[in-house]
Amino acid sequence: MTVTENYSFFDSVTRSFDKAARFTSWDPGILEQIKACNSVYKMKFPVRIGNNVEVIEAYRVQHSHHKTPCKGGIRFSMEVNQDEVMALAALMTYKCAIVNVPFGGGKGGIKIDPKKYTAFELEKITRRYTSELIKKNFIGPGTDVPAPDYGTGAREMAWILDTYVAMHPSEVDAAACVTGKPVSQGGVRGRTEATGLGVFYGIREVCNMPDRMAKLGLNTGIEGKTVVVQGLGNVGYHCAKYFREHGAKVIAIAEWEGAIYNCEGLNEEEVFQHRKAKGTILNFPKSKNLAVNTDALELECDILIPAALENVINGQNAPRVKAKIIGEAANGPLTPEADEIFIAKGILVVPDMYLNAGGVTVSYFEWLKNLSHVRYGRLEKRFTENMNKHIIGQIEELTGKDVDAKEKLFIEHGADEIDLVHSGLEETMVNATREIMEVWKSNPEIPDMRTAAYVSAINKVATSYAELGIFP
Ligand code: NAD
Repeated sequence: MTVTENYSFFDSVTRSFDKAARFTSWDPGILEQIKACNSVYKMKFPVRIGNNVEVIEAYRVQHSHHKTPCKGGIRFSMEVNQDEVMALAALMTYKCAIVNVPFGGGKGGIKIDPKKYTAFELEKITRRYTSELIKKNFIGPGTDVPAPDYGTGAREMAWILDTYVAMHPSEVDAAACVTGKPVSQGGVRGRTEATGLGVFYGIREVCNMPDRMAKLGLNTGIEGKTVVVQGLGNVGYHCAKYFREHGAKVIAIAEWEGAIYNCEGLNEEEVFQHRKAKGTILNFPKSKNLAVNTDALELECDILIPAALENVINGQNAPRVKAKIIGEAANGPLTPEADEIFIAKGILVVPDMYLNAGGVTVSYFEWLKNLSHVRYGRLEKRFTENMNKHIIGQIEELTGKDVDAKEKLFIEHGADEIDLVHSGLEETMVNATREIMEVWKSNPEIPDMRTAAYVSAINKVATSYAELGIFP
């Protein structure tokens, strides 16, 4: 989501909401309630850093309590401020609603530059922040469940868990107070690739819709589609991997230092290793360098995946973009000006608010795992394998033919945690895509998929309030 000089980030989210709300028939009071941030906790606390005491500014915002717990990451950044945290918390409410993750939106932030502190100091800050949240009941498996965001990762989540457990020693569900933890601390397998894989599932579902593809002049399916990826970080790398593995050609990859192009397709792992060894993506064997990284955004291709930064496609370069589909893997890669240009050009923008929801979806699976106290697949894996072996044995006996050894291994396999997490993510992204498209189809006045996604979110949150009886 874009911040312009005229209005704040939260205002900008509110504007997108209002634009979509026009396509719903909810009572204005319900719409006001959905938009508002329910609880905003701004705190300041002292932490001893070396010989000095530093006063740290931090926030936790619970945007919506229509479902509990609230859910949303914690970022460490000097840019953190109340407006930003409120906007990000609101977006989490809508994102969770779209992908049917039964949480309200939340977000947290600590206004620090994490690079300026040692690991020991960061641990002190994180633990103190957690105890402030505990004091005000702003964290807990049933109230508010943080996760990693910009500047934080599994390490910080493990510190949060440990602090929470220390202060709730007999709470049996304590592990569900935070997600994005290391697997050894109750994390779930499949979190690392979740966002990139979710992006792939979402785009694949769009590409499987014959009517949408016909409008764009494309064939149905992923096979043979040309893809450009901006950013070879966690999200971009996994997007490229899954597109390539399913028969698409990743013809260009852009990083901040430049971009590379090969019309036959690039292998993301080889590119990643090349960049690691040489310190640059450029001069990759059998590919052409594009010295200006943003040139990659303007290449002729079927699918463009911006997976790096916000605002990279704007009023200036949008008229030169030739992709047929833009999949917003990053948060806010398009400005509102770019959106308008793409609506006019008939380019399909698949919006960030749901497309990059793989992370929160798998966080939901982690929370469920923590509450059930059992690894996914543990109970049924062996039973399934025994049943499948029996069925194959019967088929071989009845037909007198042996099932191919490779096929046999595949069919016999009982689901592990990773299989179930991937399958749950696929189901989530496919359903969300279909629901948004249904909303879009139901009202031809809705200008784009982003607005349709907001309408889908508003309808779900409003229904939830209405069914609670708050607004008879
Ligand atoms: P990351 O830091 O792992 O990767 C970002 C990559 O972009 C890096 O390799 C960086 O060098 C590259 N980059 C920076 N500037 C660039 C430029 N000007 N041109 C091309 N490449 C550039 O981050 P990530 O986790 O992959 O996140 C990427 C985006 O996806 C962000 O907008 C993030 O908010 C969003 N996102 C991430 C997740 C997640 O689970 N990681 C979830 C939802 C949304």
